[in-house]
Amino acid sequence: MDKNSLRQYIREEKKRHSKSELLSQSEIILSKLENNEHFIEAKNIMLYASLPDEVYTLDFIEKWRNKKHIILPVVLGDDIIPTALEYEVSLAKGSFNIPEPQNNPYKGNFDLIIVPGMAFDKQGNRLGRGKGYYDRFLVNNKNVYKIGICFDFQFLDVIPSEDHDQKIDEIITVL
Ligand code: ADP
Ligand code: MG
Repeated sequence: MDKNSLRQYIREEKKRHSKSELLSQSEIILSKLENNEHFIEAKNIMLYASLPDEVYTLDFIEKWRNKKHIILPVVLGDDIIPTALEYEVSLAKGSFNIPEPQNNPYKGNFDLIIVPGMAFDKQGNRLGRGKGYYDRFLVNNKNVYKIGICFDFQFLDVIPSEDHDQKIDEIITVL
Protein backbone atom coordinates (compact mmCIF):
# COMPACT_ATOMS: atom_id res chain seq x y z
CA MET A 1 0.00 0.00 0.00
CA ASP A 2 1.40 3.44 -0.84
CA LYS A 3 1.46 6.27 1.70
CA ASN A 4 -1.68 8.02 0.44
CA SER A 5 -3.77 4.83 0.35
CA LEU A 6 -2.59 4.05 3.85
CA ARG A 7 -3.63 7.53 5.07
CA GLN A 8 -7.05 6.94 3.53
CA TYR A 9 -7.30 3.50 5.17
CA ILE A 10 -6.46 5.00 8.58
CA ARG A 11 -9.10 7.72 8.15
CA GLU A 12 -11.69 5.02 7.40
CA GLU A 13 -10.62 2.96 10.41
CA LYS A 14 -10.89 6.00 12.63
CA LYS A 15 -14.51 6.52 11.58
CA ARG A 16 -15.27 2.99 12.79
CA HIS A 17 -14.36 4.00 16.36
CA SER A 18 -16.53 6.17 18.60
CA LYS A 19 -15.22 9.26 20.31
CA SER A 20 -15.52 7.61 23.71
CA GLU A 21 -13.61 4.54 22.52
CA LEU A 22 -10.78 6.78 21.28
CA LEU A 23 -10.81 8.73 24.54
CA SER A 24 -10.49 5.59 26.59
CA GLN A 25 -7.69 4.34 24.33
CA SER A 26 -5.98 7.71 24.86
CA GLU A 27 -6.16 7.29 28.64
CA ILE A 28 -4.57 3.86 28.49
CA ILE A 29 -1.81 5.04 26.15
CA LEU A 30 -0.96 8.07 28.29
CA SER A 31 -0.95 6.07 31.49
CA LYS A 32 1.57 3.74 29.83
CA LEU A 33 3.59 6.77 28.80
CA GLU A 34 3.66 8.12 32.37
CA ASN A 35 5.07 4.82 33.55
CA ASN A 36 7.71 4.62 30.81
CA GLU A 37 11.24 4.95 32.22
CA HIS A 38 12.20 7.50 29.55
CA PHE A 39 9.26 9.71 30.53
CA ILE A 40 9.96 9.35 34.25
CA GLU A 41 13.60 10.39 33.80
CA ALA A 42 13.01 13.17 31.26
CA LYS A 43 12.82 16.83 32.29
CA ASN A 44 12.53 18.60 28.93
CA ILE A 45 9.76 16.86 27.04
CA MET A 46 8.44 17.76 23.62
CA LEU A 47 4.74 16.87 23.53
CA TYR A 48 2.05 17.79 21.02
CA ALA A 49 -1.39 19.33 21.50
CA SER A 50 -3.78 16.93 19.80
CA LEU A 51 -5.93 17.50 16.76
CA PRO A 52 -9.41 15.88 16.99
CA ASP A 53 -8.19 12.65 15.34
CA GLU A 54 -5.03 12.15 17.42
CA VAL A 55 -4.35 10.51 20.78
CA TYR A 56 -5.94 13.09 23.07
CA THR A 57 -3.18 14.96 24.96
CA LEU A 58 -4.78 18.21 26.15
CA ASP A 59 -5.56 17.10 29.73
CA PHE A 60 -2.22 15.30 29.90
CA ILE A 61 -0.40 18.54 29.04
CA GLU A 62 -2.25 20.39 31.83
CA LYS A 63 -1.47 17.59 34.27
CA TRP A 64 2.28 17.70 33.55
CA ARG A 65 3.00 21.29 32.57
CA ASN A 66 4.20 22.33 36.03
CA LYS A 67 5.89 19.03 36.91
CA LYS A 68 8.03 18.62 33.77
CA HIS A 69 9.31 21.24 31.35
CA ILE A 70 6.85 20.82 28.48
CA ILE A 71 7.65 22.05 24.98
CA LEU A 72 5.00 22.14 22.24
CA PRO A 73 5.18 22.64 18.48
CA VAL A 74 4.21 25.96 16.97
CA VAL A 75 3.63 25.65 13.22
CA LEU A 76 5.22 28.45 11.23
CA GLY A 77 5.12 28.02 7.46
CA ASP A 78 6.66 24.64 6.70
CA ASP A 79 8.34 24.33 10.07
CA ILE A 80 7.69 23.18 13.59
CA ILE A 81 9.07 25.72 16.06
CA PRO A 82 9.47 24.15 19.52
CA THR A 83 8.02 26.49 22.15
CA ALA A 84 8.09 26.03 25.92
CA LEU A 85 4.92 26.03 28.01
CA GLU A 86 6.19 27.59 31.21
CA TYR A 87 4.01 28.30 34.23
CA GLU A 88 2.98 31.80 33.17
CA VAL A 89 2.65 31.05 29.45
CA SER A 90 -0.83 30.76 27.97
CA LEU A 91 -2.07 28.63 25.09
CA ALA A 92 -3.87 30.11 22.10
CA LYS A 93 -5.07 28.50 18.90
CA GLY A 94 -2.70 28.80 15.96
CA SER A 95 -2.38 27.05 12.59
CA PHE A 96 -4.76 24.11 12.18
CA ASN A 97 -6.61 25.42 15.26
CA ILE A 98 -4.05 23.72 17.53
CA PRO A 99 -3.38 25.28 20.94
CA GLU A 100 0.13 26.76 20.89
CA PRO A 101 2.16 28.37 23.71
CA GLN A 102 2.45 32.14 23.44
CA ASN A 103 6.19 32.21 23.97
CA ASN A 104 9.50 32.64 22.16
CA PRO A 105 11.12 29.64 20.44
CA TYR A 106 12.74 27.14 22.80
CA LYS A 107 16.49 26.84 22.20
CA GLY A 108 17.34 24.22 24.84
CA ASN A 109 17.78 20.48 24.55
CA PHE A 110 15.19 17.71 24.65
CA ASP A 111 15.31 14.62 26.85
CA LEU A 112 12.34 13.05 25.09
CA ILE A 113 10.14 13.78 22.07
CA ILE A 114 6.56 12.44 21.89
CA VAL A 115 5.57 12.13 18.25
CA PRO A 116 2.05 11.95 16.78
CA GLY A 117 1.44 10.05 13.57
CA MET A 118 -1.20 8.59 11.26
CA ALA A 119 0.52 5.18 11.49
CA PHE A 120 3.60 3.51 12.92
CA ASP A 121 5.14 0.10 12.40
CA LYS A 122 7.21 -2.37 14.41
CA GLN A 123 10.45 -1.17 12.80
CA GLY A 124 9.87 2.36 14.12
CA ASN A 125 8.70 3.80 10.82
CA ARG A 126 6.22 6.64 10.98
CA LEU A 127 3.60 7.97 8.57
CA GLY A 128 2.53 11.58 9.03
CA ARG A 129 -0.14 13.66 7.31
CA GLY A 130 1.95 14.06 4.21
CA LYS A 131 3.65 17.40 4.72
CA GLY A 132 6.85 16.13 6.35
CA TYR A 133 6.70 18.53 9.31
CA TYR A 134 8.04 16.04 11.83
CA ASP A 135 10.64 14.61 9.41
CA ARG A 136 12.16 18.07 9.06
CA PHE A 137 12.02 18.68 12.82
CA LEU A 138 13.36 15.27 13.89
CA VAL A 139 16.26 15.26 11.43
CA ASN A 140 17.79 17.96 13.68
CA ASN A 141 17.23 15.87 16.82
CA LYS A 142 18.65 12.53 15.78
CA ASN A 143 20.08 11.63 19.19
CA VAL A 144 16.96 12.37 21.22
CA TYR A 145 14.80 9.41 22.31
CA LYS A 146 11.49 9.47 20.46
CA ILE A 147 8.24 7.79 21.46
CA GLY A 148 5.32 7.58 19.03
CA ILE A 149 1.82 7.27 20.50
CA CYS A 150 -1.12 5.91 18.51
CA PHE A 151 -4.48 4.12 18.60
CA ASP A 152 -4.46 0.35 18.07
CA PHE A 153 -5.56 0.56 14.41
CA GLN A 154 -2.63 2.89 13.68
CA PHE A 155 0.01 0.36 14.71
CA LEU A 156 0.79 -1.86 11.71
CA ASP A 157 3.28 -4.59 10.82
CA VAL A 158 4.90 -2.69 7.98
CA ILE A 159 4.34 0.78 6.53
CA PRO A 160 6.06 2.37 3.54
CA SER A 161 9.05 4.57 4.33
CA GLU A 162 11.47 6.69 2.33
CA ASP A 163 15.01 7.87 3.05
CA HIS A 164 13.83 11.21 4.50
CA ASP A 165 11.44 9.53 6.98
CA GLN A 166 12.79 9.80 10.52
CA LYS A 167 12.66 6.72 12.72
CA ILE A 168 10.94 6.51 16.10
CA ASP A 169 12.61 4.57 18.95
CA GLU A 170 9.51 3.19 20.63
CA ILE A 171 5.78 3.06 19.92
CA ILE A 172 3.19 3.08 22.69
CA THR A 173 -0.34 1.93 21.89
CA VAL A 174 -3.10 0.20 23.86
CA LEU A 175 -1.97 -3.37 23.25
P1 ADP B 1 4.81 12.69 6.33
O1 ADP B 1 6.09 12.39 7.06
O2 ADP B 1 4.07 13.88 6.86
O3 ADP B 1 3.95 11.46 6.21
P2 ADP B 1 6.24 12.48 3.88
O4 ADP B 1 7.22 11.60 4.58
O5 ADP B 1 5.50 11.89 2.71
O6 ADP B 1 5.16 13.10 4.85
O7 ADP B 1 7.05 13.77 3.42
C1 ADP B 1 6.41 14.81 2.72
C2 ADP B 1 7.44 15.70 2.07
O8 ADP B 1 8.22 16.39 3.05
C3 ADP B 1 8.47 14.94 1.25
O9 ADP B 1 8.03 14.75 -0.06
C4 ADP B 1 9.67 15.85 1.25
O10 ADP B 1 9.66 16.69 0.14
C5 ADP B 1 9.47 16.71 2.49
N1 ADP B 1 10.58 16.44 3.44
C6 ADP B 1 10.63 15.46 4.35
N2 ADP B 1 11.79 15.51 5.05
C7 ADP B 1 12.47 16.55 4.56
C8 ADP B 1 13.75 17.14 4.85
N3 ADP B 1 14.54 16.66 5.82
N4 ADP B 1 14.13 18.23 4.14
C9 ADP B 1 13.33 18.73 3.18
N5 ADP B 1 12.13 18.22 2.86
C10 ADP B 1 11.70 17.16 3.52
MG1 MG C 1 7.53 11.12 6.54
